Amino acid sequence: MITNVKLLKKTEIAKDTMAFYFEKPENYEYRAGQFADYTLINPPETDEEGNARGFSFITAPYEENIGIATRLRNTTYKRILKDLRIGAELKLDGPYGDFTLHKTESIPAVFIIGGIGVTPVRSMIAQATHDKTAHKMILLHANRTAKDAPFAADFERLTIENPNFTHIPIVTDTSVSDWGGERGHVDSNMIKRYVVDLNAPIYYLSGPEGMVKTIRQLLVSLNVNEDKIKTEEFTGY
Ligand SMILES: Cc1cc2nc3c(=O)[nH]c(=O)nc-3n(C[C@H](O)[C@H](O)[C@H](O)COP(=O)(O)OP(=O)(O)OC[C@H]3O[C@@H](n4cnc5c(N)ncnc54)[C@H](O)[C@@H]3O)c2cc1C
Repeated sequence: MITNVKLLKKTEIAKDTMAFYFEKPENYEYRAGQFADYTLINPPETDEEGNARGFSFITAPYEENIGIATRLRNTTYKRILKDLRIGAELKLDGPYGDFTLHKTESIPAVFIIGGIGVTPVRSMIAQATHDKTAHKMILLHANRTAKDAPFAADFERLTIENPNFTHIPIVTDTSVSDWGGERGHVDSNMIKRYVVDLNAPIYYLSGPEGMVKTIRQLLVSLNVNEDKIKTEEFTGY
């Protein structure tokens, strides 16, 4: 579907990271974890990367609005997006993709995510919680510091609402002192602490290409069957 969507709200959800919420077009359908392309309409400036970017839905289909989130880098597209007035419109083209939660609820889901790659995961976990599915879900979410972690409060709320969901926030900056949780980069020991049978779950990896590749290699080195690894690469990051 190609349609214009109206900006309703912008919220800072982590350091230099903003969520944008739009009016959901009438009868618009998508699945949790999918993405759409968003094109700036008549932008005041443009560059060689063009006026469109793909963003995963952070919202779940049951929610009233649709939303996206991104790290605010100083690129032409993101400067214009950040300054967009409430009520302004973007052209949406989508939904696309099959980075969606598997149907068999007895198979656990393990999300191993760095930073902003968590966008489609917020959508999937919110929808599964709303639908009260029986999937056991673990999210290992690594960020440089706690302030860089998008949706930390949302995930804490979802752990209370959904007894099948475990949220493991990880801080990778080892110089941070006021942090009592997991720290350092995700490695095989960290995964084994939370996943008892490594070949039981389906793994979900999303985010910038390099990050996804690194985690995929780590899982393969642990003899995880590659058929059990689903990925969404944010090409262009
Ligand atoms: C299926 C899919 C889903 C996606 N979902 C999301 C999402 O939910 N959220 C999200 O934020 N993005 C998502 N992306 C990526 C998104 O489409 C953009 O490519 C990304 O946000 C980068 O856009 P940009 O305007 O910052 O950089 P661009 O202007 O596109 O960057 C151009 C080039 O410069 C480099 N570059 C620019 N600025 C910097 C910098 N400060 N540091 C290092 N390198 C730089 C980039 O690596 C790139 O090679 C998704 C992509 C795909 C394909």
